[in-house]
Amino acid sequence: MKIERPRGTRDFLPDEMEKRRVIERIMRETAESYGYREINTPTFEHLNLFTIKSGEEIVQEIYAFKDKGGRDLALRPELTAPVMRMFVNECSVMPRPLRFYYFSNCFRYENPQKGRYREFWQFGVELIGSDSYLADLEVIVLACNIMKNLNLNFTLNIGHVGLLRKLLQDVDEARYYKIMRMIDKNDIEGLEKYLSSERLEGYFDPIKDLIGLKGGTEVINSAKEIIPDFDFSYLENLCKGLEKLEIEYNLDFSIVRGLDYYTGVVFEAFAKKGLGAQNQICGGGSYRLTHLFGGGDVPSTGFALGFDRIAEICKMKADAAKSILVAYTAGMELEALKISERLRKSGKTVLSDVMERSLKKQLSFANTVGAKYAVIVAENEFKDGKVILRDLEEGEQIIVNIGDLLKYFDKE
Ligand code: ATP
Ligand code: MG
Repeated sequence: MKIERPRGTRDFLPDEMEKRRVIERIMRETAESYGYREINTPTFEHLNLFTIKSGEEIVQEIYAFKDKGGRDLALRPELTAPVMRMFVNECSVMPRPLRFYYFSNCFRYENPQKGRYREFWQFGVELIGSDSYLADLEVIVLACNIMKNLNLNFTLNIGHVGLLRKLLQDVDEARYYKIMRMIDKNDIEGLEKYLSSERLEGYFDPIKDLIGLKGGTEVINSAKEIIPDFDFSYLENLCKGLEKLEIEYNLDFSIVRGLDYYTGVVFEAFAKKGLGAQNQICGGGSYRLTHLFGGGDVPSTGFALGFDRIAEICKMKADAAKSILVAYTAGMELEALKISERLRKSGKTVLSDVMERSLKKQLSFANTVGAKYAVIVAENEFKDGKVILRDLEEGEQIIVNIGDLLKYFDKE
């Protein structure tokens, strides 16, 4: 019986894994250069960690299940809520701000398509404990630098959910979230219908005008006309900072983000080409979650990069590993293994024959796997403490002392 993998999951073969590791390394190194340190949380959590803020509706979108003890659990659909839970439980007395990063798989019950999977990976950071615009600035600059270091061609859009919150401050929470969801889905028609059915039609024009504002800092002036009693100084400071650090961006007040916990600046990055409809590669913003998990009210900012979408468009190439194949003539296999072990201890990648094949077949295998050298352990030479070293790319070979072997390989 042939068993297929579950819908929306993928297998990664070595070439793909090597490329993914290169991308991962660049992400880690960039985050670490800003002082972020890696954390890890459980793959599954109590279901209510994710429903507390996002509501019961989210259960439809995640892998939720009961364990044998009858507990309601869920595979994590994202990492921000788990990190905040961890912060409240383990780190609330640590000196702030805290800078954490993670690289983990997430699970969502999605309709699978290109760039949208049921198991996917996120690389993200959380900067915990600051409500200054400098925190948002750092996190946005870090996200941009990761994408730049990966040579990605992207656009960055920045908004502030505080504007819509202020505009809708007299609307009750349930209706507010409904409206925000429609804005997130860009369902303007639905929004108009909903507002009039709830006798909130007066909000339609200002919402439409506000979310239609897109461009440089000049749109702040137009927004001020729509919501005169909102304090724009935070956003203005952030914009100044972005200009100082030469980060290109657009303001876009239609960004509200799907998840409901964002309270301030929000941002999204889109790949300019290669991904079609699933081209959002990064989402983030500032939020307050800790009070929901039994902690104080701690402001935080973070982002998550869609690792799989980035891997799909990233041209990064892993350095081809230069391996050495140690081959042997009949009866010399254990001597060959001993030499292999010695080479590995010096950091070389060495393939040993485990098929008991003829020398000719071993060498032809060396060619198929692209090994750069073959070390041939043959009885005659071995008696004199020597082996044959063949450069498979040049097609030349020499006889060398076993003790001198290492000297002949490229210094790495
Ligand atoms: P989308 O609107 O595309 O569903 P989202 O708003 O649900 O994205 P976030 O929860 O902010 O996404 O996750 C951050 C990033 O993770 C996204 O920008 C995207 O690149 C990536 N991502 C989200 N869902 C998936 C998925 N099912 N498969 C692959 N990548 C995903
Ligand atoms: Mg989604």
